Amino acid sequence: QTTHKLLHPSIHLIFFRFLFAAPLSIQFTACPFSFSFFLMDAAVERLKTGFEKFKTEVYDKKPDFFEPLKAGQAPKYMVFACADSRVCPSVTLGLEPGEAFTIRNIANMVPSYCKNKYAGVGSAIEYAVCALKVEVIVVIGHSRCGGIKALLSLKDGADDSFHFVEDWVRIGFPAKKKVQTECASMPFDDQCTVLEKEAVNVSLQNLLTYPFVKEGVSN
Ligand SMILES: [Zn+2]
Repeated sequence: QTTHKLLHPSIHLIFFRFLFAAPLSIQFTACPFSFSFFLMDAAVERLKTGFEKFKTEVYDKKPDFFEPLKAGQAPKYMVFACADSRVCPSVTLGLEPGEAFTIRNIANMVPSYCKNKYAGVGSAIEYAVCALKVEVIVVIGHSRCGGIKALLSLKDGADDSFHFVEDWVRIGFPAKKKVQTECASMPFDDQCTVLEKEAVNVSLQNLLTYPFVKEGVSN
């Protein structure tokens, strides 16, 4: 693990060097470790270059926009989106820094209220609603979602292959049952497409199990 403190004092990039990159390199070079480190250095360099580009071409050129953000955030939106690398909500919705308090997880799931099991999500919702006073909560689904495909692929009673993934996507189980009942004649891929939308409905219902969300909606 190495830490690079870059130009902006409030931004730190932390990299974990995963050694499982090393065996891959054996195919390409007689010196796997140096190749591995070359790979990782290139990956780190990509992020440093990206940050420096943001700093000089965006941050430094828009002081009127970024200066007020130093005082604090007042986002209008809370956004739930999938962790899938292809569907960053800042890109797909054109959101600017300061506009959206965002949670990303496998298959953009909102679990129902549970202090023991889902404190991470619960604390984010509570902070967004009670402290930041967001006006709108949005759950964004997307097509070709691997998490939704995993949910629809789960067999009753079968052992889980991952430590966390299956248990997490089971949050969308009511949506899965609905799709399997109502769309039984559809091919698997089409059922996935329907489930990608139905799972969002389950998340919206689950949001109402948080008392501060229910109170905000009814007001
Ligand atoms: Zn996804």
